[in-house]
Amino acid sequence: MRSQPTCRLAVVKIASRCNLNCNYCYMYNLGDRTALAQPKVMPDAIIDATVDRSMEHAAERGLKQFRFVFHGGEPLMAGAGKFRRLIEAARRRGEEFGVTPDFSIQTNGVLLTEEWCSRLAEWRVRVGVSLDGPKAVNDRRRVTHAGRGSYDDVIAGWERAKASGLRPGILTVIDPTSAPVEAYSHLCALGPGSVDFLLSDANYERRPPGDPVDTLQADWLLEIFRLWRAEPAPPFRVRMFEQIIATTLGLTYRNDAMGEGENEIVVIETDGEVGPVDTLRAALPGASRTGFNVLRNALADALDHPLLRQYHGANDALCATCRACPINRICGGGYLSHRYSAERDFDNPSVYCNDLTKLVTTVRRAALEILPEEALRQGELAHWSTAEVIAARGAALAGATIARAQ
Ligand code: SF4
Ligand code: SF4
Repeated sequence: MRSQPTCRLAVVKIASRCNLNCNYCYMYNLGDRTALAQPKVMPDAIIDATVDRSMEHAAERGLKQFRFVFHGGEPLMAGAGKFRRLIEAARRRGEEFGVTPDFSIQTNGVLLTEEWCSRLAEWRVRVGVSLDGPKAVNDRRRVTHAGRGSYDDVIAGWERAKASGLRPGILTVIDPTSAPVEAYSHLCALGPGSVDFLLSDANYERRPPGDPVDTLQADWLLEIFRLWRAEPAPPFRVRMFEQIIATTLGLTYRNDAMGEGENEIVVIETDGEVGPVDTLRAALPGASRTGFNVLRNALADALDHPLLRQYHGANDALCATCRACPINRICGGGYLSHRYSAERDFDNPSVYCNDLTKLVTTVRRAALEILPEEALRQGELAHWSTAEVIAARGAALAGATIARAQ
């Protein structure tokens, strides 16, 4: 039986417009028009209702912590007053409900003035900056509305953030045509606290570049992994690698792009609509609309919407191929939006399946190498190669087909 759906993290779209116009942006440039029909900035009444519904939900579910992620568009375009309102209300209401809120922001970094940095530090908001690599790489895709590269402005904001004592993380949409060694050196020079690598928005209708049998993304990431792993101490955390290692070793590590367990996240738009992650719009324009709104509905009501149920259970409701896959507990079938095809909806392995197979088996193998033989025996942890995983998956699928046919 499905457990009570829970939300531990609200992505708050506090502003719906952006000062950049990145050419891969799912908000504005992949066909979906939802953001442009939204209020530019979240009205105060929606901020208050967002806090109230979130804290009520956390208390109902017995959660001690609840995370708000300021998101956009570019969230800093909302202005400091909106941030202060949400943070103060969440801390006040959190005290009433016995829930501790925490806060982070995902920004493109261009508007990170000294004033913003000191406010974010004072409010204890963790900062993530989106940057796709060295200048030449970043500026191919992350551009202003006039088409100018954003790198110089982002780095100026980054330096101000570091000078203010913040240690931001970096979010990078990988460009597998770029040089991973340069990307790694660039990251080391910037000194982020953590790096999140994302696979670009793609699905069976909008395929990633390269031949489907290629593993360009995995090869790029594995070069980064090789360098990262060779360090005496990792210079920054990498969620993707940590997650594969942790789940290989039987630990729990929550993330909606991989792994197992529920995706306990909702997105709240500037008009108060509650939906699943809005990257689903990259697959299906309008897909994130639910009609539930923090002004009228409890978060639990929205969580019962079929789209949210599908997103929340995405790592457990796998297609036949993923169910037959021996690494599905680690991979989780990949990100839901990467599974979409017009013919089968989300009932597919990730369009990045070949990359994920290679990435997971290689990082998993490296994690197992540090374990003594006895631990491997006790945990029944075999050293599978990528080819062995593909063969085991094929054999299991064939068995399932025969079993169904009989
Ligand atoms: S900074 Fe983010 S929201 Fe703005 S255009 Fe780029 S990807 Fe889209
Ligand atoms: S590696 Fe491919 S088949 Fe295996 S769980 Fe991931 S997406 Fe599914």
